[in-house]
This record gives sequence, structure tokens and C-alpha cells, in this order.
Amino acid sequence: PTQATQTDMPEWKKISTGRDASFGKRSDMSIKDQRSSLPIFAFRKQLLEAVSKHQILIVISDTGSGKTTQMTQYLAEAGYANSDENGNIRMIGCTQPRRVAAMSVAKRVAEEVGGRLGEEVGYTIRFENCTSPQTRIKYMTDGILLRELLLDKDASQYSVIMLDEAHERTIATDVLFSLLKKTLKKRPDLKLIVTSATLDADKFSEYFDQCPIFKIPGRTFPVETLFSREPEADYLEAALLTVMQIHLTEPPGDCLVFLTGKEEIDSSCEILSERMKALGPNVPELLILPIYGALPSEVATRIFEPAPNGARKVVIATNIAETSLTIDGIFYVIDPGFVKQSSYDSKLGMDRLQITPISQAQANQRKGRAGRTGPGKCFRLYTEAAFQNEMLPTSIPEIQRQHLSNTVLMLKAMGINDLLHFDFMDPPPTNTMLTALEELYCLGALDDEGLLTRLGRQMADFPMDPSLSKALIYSVELQCSDEVLTIVSMISGATNIFHRPRDKQEQADKRRQKFNDPSGDHITLLNVYNGWIKAGSQKSWAIDNFIVPKNLERVKSVRDQLAETMKRHRLRLVSCGRDTIAVRRSLCSGFFRNSARKDPSSEGSGGYKTLVEGTPVFLHPSSALFGKPAEHIIYQSLVETSKEYMHQVSQIEPKWLVEAAPTFFKVAPTDRLSKRKKAERIQPLHNKFAGEDDWRLSAQKRQGR
Ligand code: ADP
Ligand code: MG
Repeated sequence: PTQATQTDMPEWKKISTGRDASFGKRSDMSIKDQRSSLPIFAFRKQLLEAVSKHQILIVISDTGSGKTTQMTQYLAEAGYANSDENGNIRMIGCTQPRRVAAMSVAKRVAEEVGGRLGEEVGYTIRFENCTSPQTRIKYMTDGILLRELLLDKDASQYSVIMLDEAHERTIATDVLFSLLKKTLKKRPDLKLIVTSATLDADKFSEYFDQCPIFKIPGRTFPVETLFSREPEADYLEAALLTVMQIHLTEPPGDCLVFLTGKEEIDSSCEILSERMKALGPNVPELLILPIYGALPSEVATRIFEPAPNGARKVVIATNIAETSLTIDGIFYVIDPGFVKQSSYDSKLGMDRLQITPISQAQANQRKGRAGRTGPGKCFRLYTEAAFQNEMLPTSIPEIQRQHLSNTVLMLKAMGINDLLHFDFMDPPPTNTMLTALEELYCLGALDDEGLLTRLGRQMADFPMDPSLSKALIYSVELQCSDEVLTIVSMISGATNIFHRPRDKQEQADKRRQKFNDPSGDHITLLNVYNGWIKAGSQKSWAIDNFIVPKNLERVKSVRDQLAETMKRHRLRLVSCGRDTIAVRRSLCSGFFRNSARKDPSSEGSGGYKTLVEGTPVFLHPSSALFGKPAEHIIYQSLVETSKEYMHQVSQIEPKWLVEAAPTFFKVAPTDRLSKRKKAERIQPLHNKFAGEDDWRLSAQKRQGR
């Protein structure tokens, strides 16, 4: 171990921390060795030269080369994070498409730098800011950087921005491409690095005015590919059998399985551990580790720890392990060939999560994960014919398949009105943009001419779906913003409030029912939160009631943050007390589209039909309304499992819909949009409306007026 002196402290750390210089250098050399063993290390100097010479640089390399964890540090070491001559902060920002990746990578880099997370190295994800005035390397989701640009178009806090994992082509990254391209013209000192793990570099370079491409050769070993001979009827079971087969017959080496989501992964972990138990003590140990987005970070970190001697590790992951996270020591990859993806469903007027086949490019990424430490094997649980004929060569970018009202609102709030000529790398379908414009119009965020309203500007400042922010803002008028704020925070802050352990399901359900409100799930959520607050926010209260205490804490923090935003906009917090009708009326103002009426033909099974398209949707057995269905309801979202289940359902009066969304549930006057001057911008909106009067009318008829 070397004793660090002030002189070998990198400049950026001297400036940023002001604490004992030796703190930054670890006595533990293994991290240093690890850093210098990464493929990117040999290119450090060349990379820095390229960055200093060019304003935009594309960097391509295999996953695990060190792009995400090393480049930010190289840049900081080279002085890019030093304050400028006026003492202004300049940071190195690095975006990630996924929250878990942003957190996990920041944590790793903080360790490598030798500081505490949130000091020199920090991260920001929605509702969670782990940075400080000392922060010089900041990891964040791409959505966060987008929001920052809303307030500061020049990205003035940054000296370098790295758009990482650009091959993922999330909506936020795609929009950032275009926004930053403009910013760079205004700020010649700002650098942009776009990194990708796949071979779409030429396309990126072309988009960014033929900027140079820096390729880092990978250090990969051959991976043997084994396809299924017949299509698998049950990919989950096939995957589990393959794990056991590998564990019992293959030489040492860890195993990585790709599944589609939390439920699949949790139940697979349970089944595997049961099967291992059944085999008795004479088989080698199998360490079973899950990783997915909603996993607490302490658990998530365990996947990086090596398995003890003689044991084998199996990591069961979502798509997150495809390129965002690299786990060392993987020799076997099991790829069932599916991913859970959200795409726009025009019949429902919203995005829908669905399990879909991956693309060939994704399949090859997954396979590559087995060849990082030595020659590996990839078990593809689909046939070679399926790979060749049924999988797309590359995935469709999110912007071409998802709902865009959130994005459109953000762009409008940035003053970008001409969406048809916005410089997208791949433009979204015109129809999707029109739908978004129309939806925002109905929410009151846009006016007749497609321009942002005052309400729309306020909505854009809330980091959530426009329907939620609309409901929240409208609730001020209806004098129940205190209650709606809580509900909105419960919905945005935690994916799952209720804990339902397998061995105590009945007990958990009974406790949960105590909170049920006859009007439905939204007020039920309110009851839970208020109950917890009344009990002094006690952990024991939460545990007794089968509620995850951490999630409630998180909701509280989300609530505080949203209350701040409300305060900035002078939106008052007013309570309606026990009279919660106004609460549901407010919710209608955001979720009028998600309205449904009881379907007499499937009443017994909680069946409804949506008012807009007549699509069958169902009450989930966990809903407060299950067994006592109301005639008309609104819901928050749809989750498809065995059926199309509605989540967060509340009873409403149909007249509230007309009151809350008069442009949606009434015939729109046809002469409304005749101003020739702004024709280009508004024409599509106009056309859309003109063509859609019919269903508007029928939607109104169906709800009995
Ligand atoms: P790239 O971005 O090129 O895919 P990374 O910088 O993410 O590469 O990874 C470089 C190395 O750092 C990998 O070998 C990986 O094992 C290691 N690493 C990354 N994150 C962690 C972590 N949280 N814990 C331990 N090792 C990590
Ligand atoms: Mg990376």
C-alpha cells in the first residue's frame, strides 16, 4: 500500500472535497488492479485525446469493457470535473436508461474512487437525489437529465455528458440526442460522448454530423450456442431444468438466466431452492440470486460477490443484465428469448406491458455475457429457425412504439412546438404524436392551437404522468389537494405497498381489508397512509399491517417533494376531510380515458368494458371493489396476467367525466380550429378531431346521457 501525498491527488479531488488527501487512495490494491485489467485501460490516453480534440465522440465496445465505470473517472482525473475559473461547478454527467444501473454503477465508482456515495460520486433517479455540492461524477437516469434540461437548456453544470447505453434507444435518450445536439452548438466547451454496446455506431455518427467513432476491441472468448430442437411449451420450466442440468453436469462457472420480470424471477428462485433442497446435502451448493429493477439495492449488490469455493452462482435477471450490468465469472447463459416490453395499445389508449420475443441483436448480447471470463456456453431455449425467421434483427426504438404524451408535454414546455420537424434520429409515427397532442388537449395542457397552456406548464413540472399531475392540480380547485397529493404519492412512490408473504396470505389479506373503502382503491390507499401517519409513522405499525415500511417512508419523501413543487406553483394544500367525493372527481380529470362500465354478461368475474373502446377489463381480486362492483369506475392502469386486470379502481358518477373532461366526452365544435396562421402546427390536431367526432359521441351515449 502506498501512502498518498497531496501531489498525487487528482486535481478534481483536491478541489472538491477539502478533506484529508489520503482518504481518496485506498490501501486495498485490488481495485486498482481490477481497474487496470479492464480492456478500456489500454486506451485511456487515446480516449482522452479524442475527447479533447472532438466535441462529440461515439464510443463502441463490448459490455464489461469499462465504459460506464472508467470513462467518467478518466475524465475527472484529466481535469474535466475541476471548477471553472469563476469557481462554478462542472460535472461529468452519465446517463443510464435504468434506475438500478444508475445506482449500482455510482456505488461501484464511489468505491473505486474511495469515497462515500453521494459525495464526489453520486446519482440521481426520480424522487431520489444522492448527490451533494461536492459531486463531480453524477450518474442519473436519462429521464432525469431530460428534466434538468427543462430548467436549464444549456446543461451549464456539466463539462461532459455521457449518454450511456445509447443502443437501448429509450425515449429519453432519443430526445436527449436532439436536445443536446442543439446545446452543443451553443456551448463549444461542452463535450458529448455517446456509448453503445452494439454496432449501430455508423447511424449515431451520421446523426451527429459524422463525428468520429472510437472502437475499443473487446476481450471475449468463444461462446458455444445451443438451440432447442423443438419450440419450448413452457420457457420458465425449460429454463429451470437447464439450470439444474448445468449445475449437476457442467464444469464450474456461474450461470445467468434471463427472465422477464419480478414475479417470474421470485418464483423461479423459490422453485430452484426447493429443488436443490430435495437433492439433499451431497450436491454442490447453488447460490440463487435475483436481480430486477424493484429490488432493494442491498440485495442487488449481492450479485457481484463471487460464489464461495465449490459453490456455483446462478443469477436470475431481467433484461438489466443484458448490457447495463456486468457480472464477472459467468460461463453459462440461459436465454428463453423473451423480454417484458411496454408498447402503445391504441384500443386501450395507453401503454401496455407485454412479454415479447427479443431481437437477434439482443440474443447476441445475452450470449456474449457467457464469454467474458473464458469460453462459455449459451443455451437458447428456442429453435434456430425461430431465431432466423421470427426475431427482428434489432429492436424497435421505444419512441416508435410507446405512448408519447409525457414526452410531447415536456417538449412543448421547452418551447418546441413544431414536433413534425423535430430532429429525431428515428421519428415516432405521426399518429402516435397526434394521439399525444389530443390527449394533452383533453387534459387541458394544450389549447385549441396546440400551444402549451398555463396548466400544461405546471403539469410539466411534476415528474410524473400528465394524467396524475392533472388530477393533482385540479384537486386544488376542488379543495381536496391534501388527499389527492397523498394518493398520487402512493401511486408514484411505490410499486407495491402491501406485503403478501406466501405462507401468510390469508392473514395479510384480512389486514388489508381493514383499509378497504367502499368507494374503491384510491381512498383505500389514502386510508393506509393516514393510518400510518396517525400511528406516528411507526415501522411496527406497518409490519403489523403487512405493509412494507420502507415503501411508506419512500411515499412520504415523494409526497414532500411533490408538495415542494406545488408550493412553487402556489398550489395550495387543502383538505376535504371525510367527504372524499371531490377526490374521485379530481381523479376523473386525469383518468377520464380509463373509465369503464360494468359488463352485465361477465359480472360474476368482475368484468367491465371500457367506455372508449368497449375493451373487456377486469377487477383484480385484491381490489376493494371486488365482489361489490360499482356501475361506473375509473382505473389507474392495466396489468395483463391471465386477464386484463385493472389496478387502482374507484367508483365514479358518469357526470363527473363530462365535468372533468368536457372536450373528451362531448361533441367538439367543428369550427374550433380554423386559425390559418398556425395551421401547420395545429392541422393534425384539427384533422384528428374532425375524424373522431363520432366515437366521441358514442362514448357519451354509452355512459347514458
Ligand atoms: P461497460 O460499461 O463497458 O459495459 P462497466 O464499466 O459497466 O463496463 O464494467 C466494467 C467492470 O466493472 C466489469 O468487469 C464489472 O464486473 C465491474 N463492475 C461494474 N459494476 C460493478 C459492481 N457494482 N460491483 C462489482 N463490480 C462491478
Ligand atoms: Mg456500461
